[in-house]
Amino acid sequence: MKTIRQITILGSTGSIGDSTLDVIARHPDRFQAFALTANHNVEKMLSQCRRFQPRYAVMLNEKSAEQLADAIRADGIKTEILSGIESLEKVASLPEVDAVMAAIVGAAGIRPTFAAARSGKLVLLANKETLVMAGRIFMDLVRENRAALLPIDSEHNAIYQSLPHQFDGDFTTAGVSRILLTASGGPFRCAPIDSLEQVTPEQACAHPNWDMGKKISVDSATMMNKGLEVIEAHWLFDAPADKIQVVVHPQSVIHSMVAYVDGSVIAQLGNPDMRTPIAHAMGYPERIESGVSALDMFKVAQLDFEEPDFNRFPCLRLAYQALTTGGNMPAVLNAANEVAVESFLQRRMPFTAIPIMIENVMRTIKPEDLTSLDDVLRTDSLAREKAHEWLTTLQ
Ligand code: NAD
Ligand code: MG
Repeated sequence: MKTIRQITILGSTGSIGDSTLDVIARHPDRFQAFALTANHNVEKMLSQCRRFQPRYAVMLNEKSAEQLADAIRADGIKTEILSGIESLEKVASLPEVDAVMAAIVGAAGIRPTFAAARSGKLVLLANKETLVMAGRIFMDLVRENRAALLPIDSEHNAIYQSLPHQFDGDFTTAGVSRILLTASGGPFRCAPIDSLEQVTPEQACAHPNWDMGKKISVDSATMMNKGLEVIEAHWLFDAPADKIQVVVHPQSVIHSMVAYVDGSVIAQLGNPDMRTPIAHAMGYPERIESGVSALDMFKVAQLDFEEPDFNRFPCLRLAYQALTTGGNMPAVLNAANEVAVESFLQRRMPFTAIPIMIENVMRTIKPEDLTSLDDVLRTDSLAREKAHEWLTTLQ
């Protein structure tokens, strides 16, 4: 794998973006932020431009880009400011770029992530939604364009580290029997089930172990995050659904495991801090310092494991169902989930309505194959439309 120097960070103002810039700042002789991108947070982007002096900064929102350009000019910084989705695609594909950190949240990340793969980049993939929506199409694109893919999601990064070097997707020759995908169980693992109706966005976003963006925090509370990760693991490692076992592990110290036919189980452990998988992928195959403190086994003291409770977390069941149905269904699941999470965060429906909305949308759209990015985007819009329709019946 080529050594990374110039990096584009899609979604630099988010939680993964912050952690990535922290790792870059620890290795100024090794990495350079080539382009930073965000939706509309001008203030944060301005401070990132001051500190990292990227060649480009892109705001999706045009007005935000104008405000940023004024501030950048006043500061005398040389960064060029662009706006719009085409510019996100451009900074993910320019020839100077060695690697693209795909860390936009949700379906909004798919087009620039596709652009990075199409231009043969090393894609550091945090945006799991791209694989959920378009797994087969995206993996084919990576292969056809000789792009490379390294997982940033902590579980998938752990699995990558626990698989044999140069694993080619063949479980039999590698002697792999199962992937054990760990899950914290989120903030409501032990809450009385009848109290879930009343939970607030603040409670849902207060994750016990990880500090993350709002959308993935709610996904962790419903365990849809683990469902999306099962689909992500399916595509990344060519793993059939029945070979991916979710293991609830409340301490989030083991980030996932691989079980082998000889009875060995290889795990990756560490403090729950995304800078570890980010530094692993950015330095690969070398190991580089990440700023994460060493794991104190005596402080951890105990590791617990439970089976997932599909009654408490119906989203997990729906994700397995979407994966088994295949075709457009994971994209439908993803879009309905995004509308559901957004509606819950806006207090337009209760937490417990999230899986109900998703299941309804999955029922109304008939399964079919997807063959292009346009197909995927059409499915995404249709599922969002159906989800909004369902929401109006609720009010
Ligand atoms: P976040 O909400 O903190 O940040 C999202 C970033 O995307 C921001 O920079 C925002 O400006 C940008 N963005 C949002 N909407 C956009 C749009 N429509 N167009 C362009 N840019 C847009 O999210 P996060 O927690 O950093 O998560 C990012 C991705 O990484 C998600 O796909 C998530 O599932 C994945 N991930 C996150 C973590 C974590 O610890 N935060 C762990 C594993 C995987
Ligand atoms: Mg994860």
